[in-house]
Amino acid sequence: MSKRDFYEILGVSKSADEKEMKKAYRKIAIKYHPDKNPDNKEAEEKFKEAAEAYEVLSDPDKRARYDRYGHAGLGQGGGFGQGGMTMEDIFSQFGDVFSDSPFEAFFGGGGSRSTRARGKKGSNLRIKVNLSLAEIAEGVTKKIKVKKQLSCSTCSGSGAKSASAVKSCGTCGGSGYVRQVKSTFLGQMQTTAVCPSCQGTGQTITDKCTSCKGDGRKLDSETIEMEIPAGVEEGMQLSMRGKGNAGVKGGPAGDLLINIVESPHEHLQRDGKNVVYDLFLNFADVALGTSVEVPTLNGKVKIKVPAGTQAGKIFRLKGKGLPSVQEYGVGDQLINVNVWTPKKLSEEEKELMKKIQSSPNFIPSPGKSEKGFFEKMKDYFQ
Ligand SMILES: [Zn+2]
Ligand SMILES: [Zn+2]
Repeated sequence: MSKRDFYEILGVSKSADEKEMKKAYRKIAIKYHPDKNPDNKEAEEKFKEAAEAYEVLSDPDKRARYDRYGHAGLGQGGGFGQGGMTMEDIFSQFGDVFSDSPFEAFFGGGGSRSTRARGKKGSNLRIKVNLSLAEIAEGVTKKIKVKKQLSCSTCSGSGAKSASAVKSCGTCGGSGYVRQVKSTFLGQMQTTAVCPSCQGTGQTITDKCTSCKGDGRKLDSETIEMEIPAGVEEGMQLSMRGKGNAGVKGGPAGDLLINIVESPHEHLQRDGKNVVYDLFLNFADVALGTSVEVPTLNGKVKIKVPAGTQAGKIFRLKGKGLPSVQEYGVGDQLINVNVWTPKKLSEEEKELMKKIQSSPNFIPSPGKSEKGFFEKMKDYFQ
């Protein structure tokens, strides 16, 4: 079966912003939520389909890839692995979508349908990672020490002093959830809410762990290994699920959000997938021709400058640029020829210059092959 268009699934236009999509998704999720449609396979499919569409379109990188290449641009299962999205995945999404809505309580219980109740999710952690252009060209594995909330090793995150200090919660009977009847615009709805006494853990701790004071977490540092794909750009954000702050009392950890910062290169400037190098030559070099070494992202390369090269000529080293996260192929290195005009001259140099100043071959006579500035820009951007 061919996949439906994600925008169509959510019922939004291609230009919809994050807010519109969130709203549209929330609406569909409420309509087809399994609690409202028990044993309804079709509703469940619709519910999953919308979750997948939202997962992709709410992520700027994935959305860009989808806009460009459609479903094919997302690889297997659009990033959910081969098995598609599980209910667990979908419910973990709800923290974001419903955090500012009265339905939080309604959906909060979702994650527990098949698993044990859990504590509060840890917060996301943001870090900056500086990368050189050479690292961006190849992709790189970075090991970075991050200060964060880690699960308390004394109590294994439970927050209790000992196993006997953990009792089943009296309010919810240990399930972590309480049932309530709510009036909503959809009518009377029986909802499941996180137990207010135990925050969903299903447990009451009679004697708190002294090391973490019952929180289940401690501030510490962890060295995290992160794989940065080739072609990333300044301002891009990568995320590592579950590598953020530990959750409270054994709750799931937040995510680690990695912001890419590009360190400037000594000689090269980035322009999308291309890198640009400014080459300075003197009159004699361009008139007589020469060969020069130019730096590239991976070592020096010797290039031939033919006799009669004009200022503003751009040489192209194919494939010496950068890959892209969103596109196929590798960019080029562009070598921009600048002709250096001496700022001061000795008497002897002045004499030489005067001699050639009115020499016939030194009178400018641009032909078709000597393009002006605007023509060159056209070439450059084609
Ligand atoms: Zn502890
Ligand atoms: Zn409880």
